[in-house]
Amino acid sequence: MKIAIHHERLNSEIEALAAFSDADPPAVTRVVFTSTDLRARAWVKARCEDAGLTIRQDAIGNTFARWVGSNPTAPVVGTGSHIDAIPNAGKYDGVTGVLGGLEAIRALQGAGVHPRHSIELLIFTSEEPTRFGIGCLGSRLLAGTLSAGAAKKLTDNDGTSIDEVRRKAGFSGELEQVMLPSGYFKAFVELHIEQGALLEREQKHLGLVERIAAPASLRVLIEGAGGHAGGVLMSDRRDALCAAAEIVLAIEHAARSSGAVDTVATVGICDVFPGAVNSIPAKVRLGVDIRDTDLLRRDRVMRVLDEVCHAVSAKRQVSIHSELLNADAPTDCAPAIVATLAQACEKHGFTFLPVTSRAYHDSLFISQIAPVAMLFIPCRNGYSHRPDEYASPEDITRGALVLAETLATLAA
Ligand SMILES: [Zn+2]
Repeated sequence: MKIAIHHERLNSEIEALAAFSDADPPAVTRVVFTSTDLRARAWVKARCEDAGLTIRQDAIGNTFARWVGSNPTAPVVGTGSHIDAIPNAGKYDGVTGVLGGLEAIRALQGAGVHPRHSIELLIFTSEEPTRFGIGCLGSRLLAGTLSAGAAKKLTDNDGTSIDEVRRKAGFSGELEQVMLPSGYFKAFVELHIEQGALLEREQKHLGLVERIAAPASLRVLIEGAGGHAGGVLMSDRRDALCAAAEIVLAIEHAARSSGAVDTVATVGICDVFPGAVNSIPAKVRLGVDIRDTDLLRRDRVMRVLDEVCHAVSAKRQVSIHSELLNADAPTDCAPAIVATLAQACEKHGFTFLPVTSRAYHDSLFISQIAPVAMLFIPCRNGYSHRPDEYASPEDITRGALVLAETLATLAA
C-alpha cells in the first residue's frame, strides 16, 4: 500500500478556501454563519462530495462527511477541525485539519484502501468564540458538555438568539439531537497547526500531542464610585480601575508562583466605564483566562482570584462580582493513537516531538466521548490568529500523510 498525498491539490485548496473571507488578503475573517462562512462551507462540502463522501449536517451545523467502510455499523474513525476564523486571522488554523483530513481520505482512496470502519471528516461549528462568546460550540454539543438548554440561552454579539441565527443559516432540527450516542467514534484524530514555536525551535517535523490544557474563563465586574477627577479627594475615592489593577497583578502572581510552567493566566479584557480622562472609573469589566495541564493547579489559581476579589472588595469598598463562563478539564490523548501516529512518522522517517497543546481545540471536548489524539504541524515563528500565520506546504503534506497512515491503521 503506497499512500501519496497530492500536495499541489491540498495546498491550492488551502489557498482557495482563504479567498472566502471578509478581510483583505492575506488576512482571513470568517465568522460562523455569516454569508462568507456559509459559502466556504458549501465549497468544502462540494469537495467532499467530489470525493464520494456522504454528507450529514446537524442542527448546529456540524458537518460530517463520511467514507463508508465495509462494516457500516462499526464505530467511526473521525478526523477534522474547523473553518471559522477570528477577525484578521490566517489561512491555516483549523483549515489544515479539514482540508488535510479530506486529502488524507482521498489519498487512501487512491491507494486502494478499503477501510472496515467508516472514516468521517468533521467540520465543527464555531470553534472560535467570536460570535457567541464560547469556543468549540459544535464539539461541546456533540460531546454533551454543553447542554442544548444552555446553548439556547446563548446570543450573538447583536443579541440575536442562537436558534434564530442557526435557522436563518439553514440549520433546522433540534439542538437536543446534536449530542452523539456513546460509542459513536472508535477514535478521533485532529491535525492542526501548532500555534507555538516549539517544533520550529527543536527542528522537528511534527508534534504528537499527549495532553491538552484545561481552559477556564471568567468575567469580573468591579463597581466603585465615579466622580470628577479634580473634585473628589483621594481619600474619598472608590476607584474601580485601581481595584482592577490589584486583581490583575494578583492573578499574574498566582500563575507565576504555581511552581509549574504549564500554569498561565491572562487578563485580556479591561473595559473601563465611563472611560474619560477626567472621570474616576466607576465600573470595570475584566476578562480572565486561566489554563493548566493540571486541573488542581488550575483551580488553585481560580481560588486565589476569588480570595483576592474578596480582599480587594473589603479594602477598597468596591463591589466585585465574578462570573464563571467555562471551566473545562484537561485531557490526556489516547496512548494507543499517539503510538500509531509515532509509527507512521517512523515509517516515513519524519522526526517528531511529544508536546502539550496549550491552546484548546475541538478534540478536548470530543475526548469526553472518544479516544482522541492530535497531530501538530510547525507554524512559522509560532504565529497564529494573525494574517502572517504560515505553515509550509512540505510540513502540511507530511502532516496529511501521517494522518492518512493513522486513519488507515485505525479503520482497518
Ligand atoms: Zn483551530
